Amino acid sequence: MSKLISKVAVITGGNSGIGLGIAQEFKNEGAVGAIVGRNQETLASASAQLGDTFIAINADVTNLTDLERVFKETAEKFGKIDVIVANAGGGAIGTVADTTEADYDKAMDLNLKSVYFTVQKALPYMNDGGSIILIGSNAAHRAYSSFSLYGAAKAAVIYLAKGFSGDLLARKIRANVITPGTTDTPAFDKFVPAEQIEAVKKHYAGVMPIGRIGQPSDIGKTAVFLASDDSSFMLGAELLVDGGMTYLA
Ligand code: NDP
Repeated sequence: MSKLISKVAVITGGNSGIGLGIAQEFKNEGAVGAIVGRNQETLASASAQLGDTFIAINADVTNLTDLERVFKETAEKFGKIDVIVANAGGGAIGTVADTTEADYDKAMDLNLKSVYFTVQKALPYMNDGGSIILIGSNAAHRAYSSFSLYGAAKAAVIYLAKGFSGDLLARKIRANVITPGTTDTPAFDKFVPAEQIEAVKKHYAGVMPIGRIGQPSDIGKTAVFLASDDSSFMLGAELLVDGGMTYLA
Protein backbone atom coordinates (compact mmCIF):
# COMPACT_ATOMS: atom_id res chain seq x y z
CA MET A 1 0.00 0.00 0.00
CA SER A 2 1.20 3.54 -0.75
CA LYS A 3 2.73 5.09 2.35
CA LEU A 4 2.00 8.80 1.83
CA ILE A 5 -1.53 8.85 0.46
CA SER A 6 -3.06 12.34 0.84
CA LYS A 7 0.01 13.71 2.66
CA VAL A 8 0.95 17.27 1.63
CA ALA A 9 4.71 17.90 1.44
CA VAL A 10 6.90 20.93 0.72
CA ILE A 11 10.39 20.13 -0.58
CA THR A 12 12.92 22.95 -0.86
CA GLY A 13 15.34 22.41 -3.74
CA GLY A 14 12.82 19.95 -5.17
CA ASN A 15 13.73 21.07 -8.69
CA SER A 16 17.11 19.29 -8.79
CA GLY A 17 19.18 16.36 -7.57
CA ILE A 18 18.32 14.93 -4.16
CA GLY A 19 15.25 17.16 -3.73
CA LEU A 20 13.81 16.02 -7.05
CA GLY A 21 14.58 12.40 -6.10
CA ILE A 22 12.63 12.91 -2.87
CA ALA A 23 9.71 14.50 -4.74
CA GLN A 24 9.62 11.57 -7.18
CA GLU A 25 9.57 8.98 -4.38
CA PHE A 26 6.92 11.00 -2.51
CA LYS A 27 4.80 11.13 -5.66
CA ASN A 28 5.18 7.33 -6.11
CA GLU A 29 3.80 6.91 -2.58
CA GLY A 30 0.77 9.15 -3.15
CA ALA A 31 1.91 12.52 -1.75
CA VAL A 32 1.11 15.92 -3.24
CA GLY A 33 2.51 19.37 -2.46
CA ALA A 34 5.09 21.89 -3.61
CA ILE A 35 8.68 22.02 -4.80
CA VAL A 36 10.66 25.20 -4.19
CA GLY A 37 13.67 26.66 -6.03
CA ARG A 38 14.91 29.76 -7.87
CA ASN A 39 15.74 28.48 -11.34
CA GLN A 40 12.60 28.79 -13.48
CA GLU A 41 13.88 26.35 -16.10
CA THR A 42 14.63 23.47 -13.69
CA LEU A 43 11.42 24.22 -11.77
CA ALA A 44 9.40 23.84 -14.98
CA SER A 45 11.21 20.67 -16.01
CA ALA A 46 10.84 19.09 -12.54
CA SER A 47 7.19 20.06 -12.41
CA ALA A 48 6.61 18.39 -15.80
CA GLN A 49 8.29 15.20 -14.53
CA LEU A 50 6.09 15.20 -11.43
CA GLY A 51 2.85 15.72 -13.36
CA ASP A 52 0.27 17.83 -11.56
CA THR A 53 1.04 16.38 -8.12
CA PHE A 54 3.52 19.08 -7.06
CA ILE A 55 3.16 22.79 -7.71
CA ALA A 56 6.40 24.68 -8.42
CA ILE A 57 7.10 27.78 -6.31
CA ASN A 58 9.87 30.18 -7.28
CA ALA A 59 11.43 31.37 -4.02
CA ASP A 60 14.79 31.97 -2.34
CA VAL A 61 15.03 30.02 0.93
CA THR A 62 17.45 32.61 2.36
CA ASN A 63 14.68 35.23 2.11
CA LEU A 64 12.17 35.07 4.98
CA THR A 65 9.43 36.88 3.06
CA ASP A 66 9.76 34.31 0.27
CA LEU A 67 9.50 31.49 2.81
CA GLU A 68 6.28 32.93 4.27
CA ARG A 69 4.82 33.04 0.76
CA VAL A 70 5.83 29.41 0.06
CA PHE A 71 3.86 27.97 2.97
CA LYS A 72 0.89 30.34 2.57
CA GLU A 73 0.57 29.41 -1.12
CA THR A 74 0.87 25.68 -0.42
CA ALA A 75 -1.68 25.78 2.39
CA GLU A 76 -4.09 27.78 0.22
CA LYS A 77 -3.81 25.16 -2.52
CA PHE A 78 -3.84 21.96 -0.43
CA GLY A 79 -5.07 22.89 3.09
CA LYS A 80 -2.70 22.01 5.96
CA ILE A 81 0.85 20.76 5.38
CA ASP A 82 2.03 17.37 6.72
CA VAL A 83 5.70 17.11 5.71
CA ILE A 84 8.51 19.65 5.29
CA VAL A 85 11.80 18.68 3.64
CA ALA A 86 14.48 21.35 4.17
CA ASN A 87 16.83 20.16 1.44
CA ALA A 88 18.09 23.27 -0.40
CA GLY A 89 21.77 23.79 0.29
CA GLY A 90 25.28 23.24 -1.02
CA GLY A 91 28.25 25.22 -2.26
CA ALA A 92 30.55 26.77 0.33
CA ILE A 93 33.93 25.42 -0.69
CA GLY A 94 37.13 27.15 0.49
CA THR A 95 39.96 26.84 2.98
CA VAL A 96 40.13 28.82 6.21
CA ALA A 97 42.97 30.85 4.68
CA ASP A 98 41.00 32.13 1.71
CA THR A 99 37.40 32.44 2.95
CA THR A 100 35.99 35.97 3.31
CA GLU A 101 33.38 37.18 5.77
CA ALA A 102 30.93 37.40 2.86
CA ASP A 103 31.66 33.75 1.96
CA TYR A 104 31.02 32.80 5.59
CA ASP A 105 27.67 34.60 5.71
CA LYS A 106 26.59 33.11 2.37
CA ALA A 107 27.45 29.56 3.44
CA MET A 108 25.66 29.88 6.77
CA ASP A 109 22.64 31.66 5.26
CA LEU A 110 22.04 28.85 2.79
CA ASN A 111 23.02 25.80 4.83
CA LEU A 112 21.89 26.73 8.34
CA LYS A 113 19.80 29.90 8.60
CA SER A 114 17.53 28.85 5.73
CA VAL A 115 16.85 25.49 7.39
CA TYR A 116 15.92 27.15 10.69
CA PHE A 117 13.54 29.63 9.09
CA THR A 118 12.07 27.16 6.61
CA VAL A 119 10.82 25.22 9.60
CA GLN A 120 9.75 28.31 11.55
CA LYS A 121 7.72 29.72 8.66
CA ALA A 122 6.10 26.31 7.97
CA LEU A 123 4.88 25.76 11.53
CA PRO A 124 1.69 27.87 11.41
CA TYR A 125 0.49 25.75 8.49
CA MET A 126 1.64 22.30 9.68
CA ASN A 127 -0.62 19.57 10.93
CA ASP A 128 0.05 18.34 14.46
CA GLY A 129 1.72 14.93 14.12
CA GLY A 130 3.56 16.09 10.99
CA SER A 131 7.12 15.25 9.96
CA ILE A 132 10.09 17.58 9.41
CA ILE A 133 12.98 16.13 7.42
CA LEU A 134 16.28 17.99 7.29
CA ILE A 135 19.04 17.19 4.81
CA GLY A 136 22.49 17.31 6.38
CA SER A 137 25.67 15.75 5.01
CA ASN A 138 28.22 13.12 5.96
CA ALA A 139 30.67 16.07 5.78
CA ALA A 140 29.50 16.78 9.34
CA HIS A 141 31.35 13.63 10.45
CA ARG A 142 34.37 13.29 8.23
CA ALA A 143 37.24 15.74 7.61
CA TYR A 144 37.52 17.14 4.10
CA SER A 145 39.81 20.02 3.13
CA SER A 146 37.87 23.14 2.01
CA PHE A 147 34.62 21.94 3.58
CA SER A 148 34.92 23.40 7.09
CA LEU A 149 32.11 25.95 6.76
CA TYR A 150 29.81 23.55 4.92
CA GLY A 151 30.55 20.73 7.39
CA ALA A 152 30.03 23.02 10.39
CA ALA A 153 26.67 24.21 9.06
CA LYS A 154 25.59 20.63 8.35
CA ALA A 155 26.70 19.53 11.85
CA ALA A 156 24.46 22.24 13.27
CA VAL A 157 21.59 20.95 11.12
CA ILE A 158 21.98 17.55 12.82
CA TYR A 159 21.43 19.30 16.15
CA LEU A 160 18.42 21.21 14.79
CA ALA A 161 16.56 17.92 14.29
CA LYS A 162 16.93 17.25 18.03
CA GLY A 163 16.20 20.82 19.11
CA PHE A 164 13.13 21.15 16.87
CA SER A 165 11.77 17.81 18.12
CA GLY A 166 12.10 19.10 21.68
CA ASP A 167 10.40 22.40 20.83
CA LEU A 168 7.51 20.66 19.08
CA LEU A 169 6.74 17.79 21.47
CA ALA A 170 3.36 19.24 22.43
CA ARG A 171 2.29 19.13 18.78
CA LYS A 172 3.86 15.68 18.18
CA ILE A 173 5.72 17.05 15.17
CA ARG A 174 8.83 14.90 14.65
CA ALA A 175 12.07 16.27 13.17
CA ASN A 176 14.76 13.94 11.84
CA VAL A 177 17.80 14.41 9.61
CA ILE A 178 19.20 12.44 6.68
CA THR A 179 22.97 12.75 6.12
CA PRO A 180 23.81 11.69 2.55
CA GLY A 181 27.27 10.71 1.35
CA THR A 182 28.41 11.37 -2.23
CA THR A 183 25.29 11.37 -4.37
CA ASP A 184 24.98 11.67 -8.14
CA THR A 185 23.40 15.11 -8.65
CA PRO A 186 24.06 18.27 -10.70
CA ALA A 187 25.91 19.67 -7.64
CA PHE A 188 28.45 16.85 -7.88
CA ASP A 189 28.92 17.58 -11.59
CA LYS A 190 29.68 21.26 -10.87
CA PHE A 191 32.97 20.38 -9.17
CA VAL A 192 34.35 18.33 -12.06
CA PRO A 193 35.19 19.33 -15.67
CA ALA A 194 32.51 17.87 -17.99
CA GLU A 195 34.91 15.59 -19.86
CA GLN A 196 36.10 14.01 -16.59
CA ILE A 197 32.72 13.38 -14.95
CA GLU A 198 32.34 9.72 -15.94
CA ALA A 199 35.93 8.87 -14.93
CA VAL A 200 35.56 10.65 -11.58
CA LYS A 201 32.26 8.87 -10.85
CA LYS A 202 33.91 5.54 -11.68
CA HIS A 203 36.76 6.38 -9.32
CA TYR A 204 34.32 7.29 -6.52
CA ALA A 205 32.31 4.12 -7.09
CA GLY A 206 35.58 2.17 -6.70
CA VAL A 207 36.39 3.72 -3.32
CA MET A 208 32.84 3.45 -1.95
CA PRO A 209 32.56 0.41 0.32
CA ILE A 210 29.23 -0.52 -1.28
CA GLY A 211 30.70 -0.22 -4.81
CA ARG A 212 28.63 2.67 -6.20
CA ILE A 213 27.85 6.31 -5.45
CA GLY A 214 24.45 7.27 -4.13
CA GLN A 215 21.44 8.08 -6.25
CA PRO A 216 18.78 10.68 -5.37
CA SER A 217 16.29 7.80 -5.05
CA ASP A 218 18.39 6.34 -2.18
CA ILE A 219 17.75 9.52 -0.22
CA GLY A 220 14.17 9.71 -1.52
CA LYS A 221 13.26 6.26 -0.17
CA THR A 222 14.74 7.15 3.23
CA ALA A 223 12.73 10.38 3.23
CA VAL A 224 9.54 8.37 2.49
CA PHE A 225 10.24 6.32 5.62
CA LEU A 226 10.74 9.45 7.76
CA ALA A 227 7.63 11.11 6.30
CA SER A 228 5.45 8.05 6.89
CA ASP A 229 3.92 6.58 10.03
CA ASP A 230 6.50 3.75 9.81
CA SER A 231 8.91 6.10 11.63
CA SER A 232 6.36 7.38 14.18
CA PHE A 233 8.65 6.44 17.12
CA MET A 234 11.64 8.38 15.70
CA LEU A 235 12.42 11.98 16.57
CA GLY A 236 15.72 13.83 16.68
CA ALA A 237 17.34 10.92 14.82
CA GLU A 238 20.01 10.97 12.13
CA LEU A 239 19.99 8.47 9.25
CA LEU A 240 23.39 8.28 7.53
CA VAL A 241 22.83 7.20 3.90
CA ASP A 242 26.34 7.04 2.51
CA GLY A 243 27.18 3.60 1.09
CA GLY A 244 29.62 3.18 3.98
CA MET A 245 31.94 6.04 2.95
CA THR A 246 32.01 7.87 6.28
CA TYR A 247 33.19 5.11 8.59
CA LEU A 248 34.19 2.20 6.36
CA ALA A 249 36.19 3.70 3.46
P1 NDP B 1 21.65 20.37 -6.40
O1 NDP B 1 22.55 21.51 -6.73
O2 NDP B 1 21.33 19.35 -7.42
O3 NDP B 1 20.31 20.93 -5.79
C1 NDP B 1 20.32 21.98 -4.86
C2 NDP B 1 18.90 22.51 -4.83
O4 NDP B 1 18.81 23.56 -3.87
C3 NDP B 1 18.47 23.06 -6.17
O5 NDP B 1 17.16 22.64 -6.41
C4 NDP B 1 18.52 24.57 -5.95
O6 NDP B 1 17.52 25.20 -6.75
C5 NDP B 1 18.15 24.67 -4.48
N1 NDP B 1 18.64 25.90 -3.90
C6 NDP B 1 19.93 26.28 -3.72
N2 NDP B 1 19.97 27.50 -3.18
C7 NDP B 1 18.68 27.90 -3.02
C8 NDP B 1 18.07 29.08 -2.52
N3 NDP B 1 18.79 30.11 -2.04
N4 NDP B 1 16.72 29.15 -2.52
C9 NDP B 1 15.97 28.12 -3.00
N5 NDP B 1 16.49 26.98 -3.47
C10 NDP B 1 17.83 26.89 -3.49
O7 NDP B 1 22.31 19.69 -5.11
P2 NDP B 1 22.05 18.29 -4.37
O8 NDP B 1 20.77 17.71 -4.79
O9 NDP B 1 23.29 17.53 -4.48
O10 NDP B 1 21.95 18.81 -2.86
C11 NDP B 1 20.74 18.79 -2.12
C12 NDP B 1 21.08 18.79 -0.63
O11 NDP B 1 21.82 17.60 -0.32
C13 NDP B 1 21.96 19.96 -0.20
O12 NDP B 1 21.54 20.41 1.08
C14 NDP B 1 23.35 19.35 -0.13
O13 NDP B 1 24.17 20.04 0.77
C15 NDP B 1 22.99 17.95 0.38
N6 NDP B 1 24.03 16.94 0.12
C16 NDP B 1 24.40 16.58 -1.16
C17 NDP B 1 25.36 15.60 -1.38
C18 NDP B 1 25.80 15.18 -2.75
O14 NDP B 1 26.81 14.42 -2.86
N7 NDP B 1 25.12 15.57 -3.82
C19 NDP B 1 26.01 14.93 -0.23
C20 NDP B 1 25.54 15.37 1.05
C21 NDP B 1 24.58 16.32 1.21
P3 NDP B 1 17.80 26.63 -7.48
O15 NDP B 1 19.17 26.57 -8.04
O16 NDP B 1 16.69 26.67 -8.49
O17 NDP B 1 17.64 27.66 -6.43
